[in-house]
Amino acid sequence: MKVKIDKDTCIRCGACQALCPDVFEYDDDGIMDVKVTDVSDDLVEDVTDAKDGCPVDAIKTEE
Ligand code: SF4
Repeated sequence: MKVKIDKDTCIRCGACQALCPDVFEYDDDGIMDVKVTDVSDDLVEDVTDAKDGCPVDAIKTEE
């Protein structure tokens, strides 16, 4: 699975990082970013939960 964040849509709420800190992390400018773009199989469920929980649908994934 590939993952990215639409930074223009993200409201920086931090929910995705709380759910999956191995993938989502604030960058030095306080903007949420991904640490990896190719998600390992063991993190797919957490990333999917983060995507489903994003209040503004800013997390984009593709297989
Ligand atoms: S859950 Fe969505 S809005 Fe909140 S920080 Fe993550 S990407 Fe941004």
